[in-house]
Amino acid sequence: MINHIEMPNNIKTYIKRYLTCFFSVALFISGCSDVDTDRETEIQSDDRGAVLLISIDGLMTEYMERNETPNLDWIARRGVLAESMEMVFPTKTFPTHYSIVTGLYPENHGIISNSFRDYELDALFSYGPPDNGPEDDLWWGGEPIWVTAENQSQTAATMFWPGSDSEIKGVRPTRFKDYDGSIPNLARIDTVLSWLDPSGDVQADFATLYFSDVDSYGHRYGPNSEEVNNMVEETDQWIGYLLERMQETGLEERLNLIIVSDHGMAELSDERLIFLDDLIDMENVDIVDWTPVAMIRPEEGKTQEVYEALKENEQNFTVYLREELPDVYRFREHYRIPDIIMIADLGYTITTHSFYNQRGISAGNHGYDHRLPEMHGFFLAKGPAFLTDEQTGTVRAIHLYELMTYILGLEPAINDGVLDEIRHILNE
Ligand code: AMP
Ligand code: ZN
Ligand code: ZN
Repeated sequence: MINHIEMPNNIKTYIKRYLTCFFSVALFISGCSDVDTDRETEIQSDDRGAVLLISIDGLMTEYMERNETPNLDWIARRGVLAESMEMVFPTKTFPTHYSIVTGLYPENHGIISNSFRDYELDALFSYGPPDNGPEDDLWWGGEPIWVTAENQSQTAATMFWPGSDSEIKGVRPTRFKDYDGSIPNLARIDTVLSWLDPSGDVQADFATLYFSDVDSYGHRYGPNSEEVNNMVEETDQWIGYLLERMQETGLEERLNLIIVSDHGMAELSDERLIFLDDLIDMENVDIVDWTPVAMIRPEEGKTQEVYEALKENEQNFTVYLREELPDVYRFREHYRIPDIIMIADLGYTITTHSFYNQRGISAGNHGYDHRLPEMHGFFLAKGPAFLTDEQTGTVRAIHLYELMTYILGLEPAINDGVLDEIRHILNE
């Protein structure tokens, strides 16, 4: 296997051109002194185009329906809009984003929340590994699509995605940026389009783009606020800018846009609190993650006692011993998942008196049971690979890795998705 991290980009570009040339010769018995300019036109008959995967963090289909979103509407008329996208459990940014790009449930990729302690590594993952280096491999399990692409002579370029600024399996995307939330959204678009530009020097086959604002406003003001509505409309304008720039760069015909989100958002309330310190002796436990899914690690020999104390007061939440967690959550296998899992009912917050007195709660949150409609994410796709003017029912995020590797003609790594579950949205 070629390790692409050591391969200079110009050599990779050369290989891609060589392959294009090879197929041109095979198919058309034509010369190929310079295939530079016609890579995008002399494509193989099964070339389904490049993929730009965009995440609008925390976007719900409902937000699109209740606001003026002419650009998302324009894409929907030319592509496939799903009723919603069911995520993996727990519905938190890092687990869900990383499942989208690996096709693995969190129990198989190991990113069990946004922030959690790994007791074997004796270190804390908090929106990323503690340091950026070779140790990163120990945190991110499975194979994200940018690694699959790079290992199969394609070019990946990421303008933010959880995991994309770490070295995974010894590979990084050809272009990536360390996460920096202060980079303006229009600049993110300009950068990613320069990487996808068919006449540019990167010519990415797969790229990502990420916007955080709808989620941030959802937390701050709640999902039903005017502020969220305004932010959704502003985000739609950025999508409009992206569409304009795609036209200018000649990407409109060949680029597959897949616009997703990673979860929905629920309204919180000071009336809906679960004080953990009222229920159990906090001395007996470590809390791996807090709310709305409390991942509880009891001290040696205390598991049954803590579990029973919670079970006796099981109000506004459901508590499970890890090994009893129903299959539907797919959240048992990984060693990072502690012995007791407590899942708050929608809109409830798990906290302690002292934490609540100091910090209160935000207006919105997510992380709840992935089956709840309020936790579903968003899915909209358009491009040569997709049906046009099509509405479909709820799709499942776990199948996106299969879908994207299929579009790109890549051999997928082992994963939990099934292409046939999502194939009906493809134009074939
Ligand atoms: P959450 O806390 O689940 O609402 O996560 C959303 C937040 O995650 C965003 O507002 C960012 O601050 C952060 N975030 C998103 N992507 C990344 C990334 N690739 N690296 C680090 N932090 C990120
Ligand atoms: Zn998120
Ligand atoms: Zn969030």
